[in-house]
Amino acid sequence: MRNDNIPGGIMANSKLHVTIVGGGIGGLFAANALIAHGLSVSVYEQAAALGEVGAGVFLTPNSVRQLERLGLGSSVETWGARVGQGSHYFRHDGAPIAPVQVTDSTGWNATFGMHRADLVDLLAAALPAQTVHTGHRCIGFEQADNSARVLFANGLSVESDIVVAADGIHSELRRHVAPPSHPVFHGSVAYRGLVPHSTLSHWPSDRWLMWLGQGRHFLTFPVRGGKLINYVGFVRADGEMKESWSAPGDPDVLRREFSGWDPRIGALLQRVQTTFRWALYDREPLPAWSSGRLTLLGDAAHPMLPHLGQGANQSIEDGMALATILARANREAVPAALVAYQRLRLERVAQVQRGARENGLRYDSATSNLGLRDAEITAHAAFRRRLYDHDVVPDAKAAAMALT
Ligand code: FAD
Repeated sequence: MRNDNIPGGIMANSKLHVTIVGGGIGGLFAANALIAHGLSVSVYEQAAALGEVGAGVFLTPNSVRQLERLGLGSSVETWGARVGQGSHYFRHDGAPIAPVQVTDSTGWNATFGMHRADLVDLLAAALPAQTVHTGHRCIGFEQADNSARVLFANGLSVESDIVVAADGIHSELRRHVAPPSHPVFHGSVAYRGLVPHSTLSHWPSDRWLMWLGQGRHFLTFPVRGGKLINYVGFVRADGEMKESWSAPGDPDVLRREFSGWDPRIGALLQRVQTTFRWALYDREPLPAWSSGRLTLLGDAAHPMLPHLGQGANQSIEDGMALATILARANREAVPAALVAYQRLRLERVAQVQRGARENGLRYDSATSNLGLRDAEITAHAAFRRRLYDHDVVPDAKAAAMALT
């Protein structure tokens, strides 16, 4: 396990206060990173309690590297399920296509399936008491030269030096930064849920497995130390659902969507009693994320399709980049620091957004030449290695140094 923690002595900005709107994976990781870099932080979440739907999220080395820097690596190991050799892509009938890349270029295997609620819990548990304020729905924002103010539906308003909008794909604060844009419906939905491993004990608990068919694909990986199997069935949608809307799905419809596929999928789906349907949307990359003392992070900045499994991983990279840059900024330099953060992140994230769209076409077999598609899947391991090798910190430090 790596041990390159936050360097000591970065306390120049202990007086800067950051308001984070949104207590999802992005907002909670950013809070941890900013506090570790000496800033003071409050998180405001609209829900009455922190929580997440019963589904999995896949963590990859580019974000696990940052979780380890904050001392959260052992929690990830405890609550996650490491995925390793034997992870594989298959055609819909089970014919093998290619192994799945599970390490960075150095061979470091830090790919973990996590229950989303476990990740939210471990991020929240690492914060000082009184950092997170639930039951606060942000409804407005205003700023002057020296401070910014966030307004809430319950009548409260708070002033701070910096506001981070980590309020997801429906972001309320996004309109203060970027021109209005419409989410792009991908024409598909994801059925998601969890099956206890005890009901399917022959299922490997250390593998990421994906089957690719026409207009559909099916993914499983373990979570919670291998006790649960997370499954996601991506299928064409009969009509638009509200973006990112998670609604109950019909397990029998899910089973019909994948009938005739590899019998292993049928065996798993027989165990499904409840499932969620999640409509897939992204947006065109934004031209800007920051305006004065306000900046965007995570899905508020870059909602993306899940076909590279990078939405949460990129939000973690965002949080570490932001904290590393703000650690060197004083109150006057905040707007310039937020522009530096935006500059650093925009192109990397836009590449990942585009890559997720392209990968979705491969996964849904949107070609008549499946041999070529299979060759692309095999070659894609090199893209994944580059993605996983990335460490956002050195570039963020250089961007911070350029500010001074
Ligand atoms: P969110 O998780 O949406 O959190 C936003 C928070 O802000 C919420 O708690 C919300 O209640 C709160 N909020 C919203 N509005 C307000 C307001 N006005 N005031 C106060 N609070 C507010 N990513 C991966 O990295 N790996 C994966 O394997 C993966 N799998 C996925 C599978 C599917 C099917 C889908 C759809 C997505 C997947 N993702 C994955 C993407 C990932 O889930 C998201 O990118 C990530 O959760 C975004 O985190 P966030 O904190 O930016 O936003």
